[in-house]
Amino acid sequence: MKPALFDYVMARTVPEAVEALSNAENAKVLAGGQSLILEMHLKRASTPHVVVDINRITSLGRVEVDDGVLRVGALVRHRAFEDPHAVPGPLGELFARTVVNIAHPPIRNRGTMAGSFGWAHPASEWCGLAVALDADVELAGADSTREVAARDFFKGPHETVRQPQEMITAVRWPLLSDDTGVGFVEHRRTHFCFAQVAVGATLNVRGGVIQQAKIGLVNCADRPLRAHAAEASLNGAEVGPMVDGYRVPPDHPFARAGRVAAEEDAAPIAEPYADIEYRKHAIATVVTRTLCQAAADQQTRAEAQQGDSA
Ligand SMILES: Cc1cc2nc3c(=O)[nH]c(=O)nc-3n(C[C@H](O)[C@H](O)[C@H](O)COP(=O)(O)OP(=O)(O)OC[C@H]3O[C@@H](n4cnc5c(N)ncnc54)[C@H](O)[C@@H]3O)c2cc1C
Repeated sequence: MKPALFDYVMARTVPEAVEALSNAENAKVLAGGQSLILEMHLKRASTPHVVVDINRITSLGRVEVDDGVLRVGALVRHRAFEDPHAVPGPLGELFARTVVNIAHPPIRNRGTMAGSFGWAHPASEWCGLAVALDADVELAGADSTREVAARDFFKGPHETVRQPQEMITAVRWPLLSDDTGVGFVEHRRTHFCFAQVAVGATLNVRGGVIQQAKIGLVNCADRPLRAHAAEASLNGAEVGPMVDGYRVPPDHPFARAGRVAAEEDAAPIAEPYADIEYRKHAIATVVTRTLCQAAADQQTRAEAQQGDSA
């Protein structure tokens, strides 16, 4: 189906874009267009009166690091993060493990990280990670700018605290310390489907004892979630032995954290191919596997650091 009629504004600066958003009753930002254009065509699910194209605002295409914070401008495409060295430290590795799960290369070439926050789909990998890793969303409005913690940004499927006159200018991520282990595991029906369940996690371990765990849940509720109860269940626990890097006995802390995440943190919604019981089982399994991956990564980093100092 063709989209409904709309006016088109090509903004060249952030103030120009914000002005165009403020002047229209129903205006939408066009970033990569990988979700917006689809929605405008498919059954006219989206019918903006004005489309504000931000693709000529070159300042939004930057990735910057300052004072331990990574700032990803609103025009940085998903593809930029496929190289684990694009971002310093373990965060680069975590992004690289995450981004390959987003659609396929042509979509990753155009789609933007910030666009995922604008679209706010519960199955967005970036949004789940952002909630767990204490990222912030930068917003510019007509008279002011503000930062909103990712944990407070999402209100439900495609619903956020962003006002219609505001645009996202960047997403800000705290970098991870060099000894942080990272993991990202996704479960989906076919390679190009959205996640049925995905989980991102970081682990800090000292002397085999977990000091801190952060766990982000993707498509485990109507919005991205942080698995606080599962994280708490891991505090002070010992990382016991794992089999083949992915399997642990049922009484292992990672298996327990998986069950806690499924029962206490997640609020899964039944889908045609996955009822609640199935989804809870998947959540428990994926959380456990992600923690195993993060622990293995942490172990590799610790060994490399020991090798460097020997
Ligand atoms: C086949 C297919 C598979 C996909 N699979 C996945 C997947 O597995 N995981 C995943 O996360 N995504 C997936 N996507 C979506 C894709 O990642 C999009 O790129 C992303 O959701 C939106 O980014 P975009 O830059 O294309 O945004 P656009 O399509 O341009 O915009 C999307 C929405 O966000 C708003 N928006 C965009 N940028 C801003 C901004 N700076 N300020 C305010 N509002 C803004 C727009 O107005 C619009 O409402 C898939 C898409 C397709 C077509």
